[in-house]
Amino acid sequence: ELPCTVRSFAEALGLPAQKVLAKLFEMGTLANINATLDQATAELLAAELGVDVTFRAEADPEEEIEAIWNAPDPEESLRPRPPVVTFLGHVDHGKTSLLDKILGLNVAAKEKGGITQHIRAYQVEKNGRPITFLDTPGHEAFTAMRARGANCTDIVVLVVAVDDGVMPQTEEAISHARAAGVPIVVALNKVDLPGTRPERVMQQLTGLGLVPTEWGGDVEMVRTSALTGQGIPELLDTLITLGDIFELKANYDRPACGTCLEASLQPGRGVVAKFLVQKGTLRPGDIVVCGTAHGRIKAMYDPLQPHKRVQEAPPARPVDVIGLDNVPEAGSRFVVLEDIAKARKIAEHRMEMARQRELAQVRSHVTLENLFER
Ligand code: GDP
Ligand code: MG
Repeated sequence: ELPCTVRSFAEALGLPAQKVLAKLFEMGTLANINATLDQATAELLAAELGVDVTFRAEADPEEEIEAIWNAPDPEESLRPRPPVVTFLGHVDHGKTSLLDKILGLNVAAKEKGGITQHIRAYQVEKNGRPITFLDTPGHEAFTAMRARGANCTDIVVLVVAVDDGVMPQTEEAISHARAAGVPIVVALNKVDLPGTRPERVMQQLTGLGLVPTEWGGDVEMVRTSALTGQGIPELLDTLITLGDIFELKANYDRPACGTCLEASLQPGRGVVAKFLVQKGTLRPGDIVVCGTAHGRIKAMYDPLQPHKRVQEAPPARPVDVIGLDNVPEAGSRFVVLEDIAKARKIAEHRMEMARQRELAQVRSHVTLENLFER
């Protein structure tokens, strides 16, 4: 395997290291037993020594992670899991208010300028059936996660305010959901406003290919009000029914993997990462690698009750996790590994790759500038 040292090279060939060093010296290199050999040198050396060698590159850590992530789950290990639902839609159409009403919270009112700044991820229960909700600051978060291969949404709730109707970000949301292959449920929101006509919005949506079931199409549309709570039980029932129809399943008994929805450095707490578990069960003490971060999980907290510790996070459960050594990029995937040294090595490798990409970018940037100066 490469790169290798003179010692391991000699051992692999069953030659005394002195002989290898002597040959290297003949070739014009003064090396010691711990010197590393790149492939070109090693090939040349093998040829000079008159031996046949084949080289095996060191296993690519990303492929290893990919393999862990994609490790097949036997059919009998799969158990039903809750649906993960993401609110999308035009700004101010009521995504945050709807989630607040569902949770009995009042976050929307406290937001700076009424704009959602952070991803929120909560699990709620309706008649003992859990549903996980994601509320994102914008569609960017949704697309960014997709770009990193983290499709963590099962159902999109497209929120359309009936007083405003279809707006540019409504159409954008539809195309994001379609690109991700995620089915849409429409919340026709703000039906409490006088003089609004939900049918007009249904007409608009039909024009975009979203035909309501009550008109013979296949898109569930629920009239809601985040103000009065009207339609919210129906919306939750619809989501649970759809979840059942999709037969969402996961293996609960495997090392966990999932997505980091967001992470930040918080005073007094260190790195806090909001994880959505997608497969397996996450527990304190688990070793994780997540993007360029790694560590052993010290504690997990319920996002709804930030001081309540959680001992187990099964599939579709969002948790705030403490124990990572630095802040991973939002949308990074995480996997649980057995070995902290391995986790560190992968995280460091990624950091090194990121550093090289940055350098390459700086270089190409400089060349472009030079180009324009001419
Ligand atoms: P977001 O940008 O989609 O998250 O929208 P918000 O939840 O922040 O809501 C934007 C504004 O619409 C706020 O002033 C809410 O109080 C208001 N709003 C949201 N839902 C309703 C509703 O069902 N009825 C009425 N009348 N106002 C609503
Ligand atoms: Mg919002």
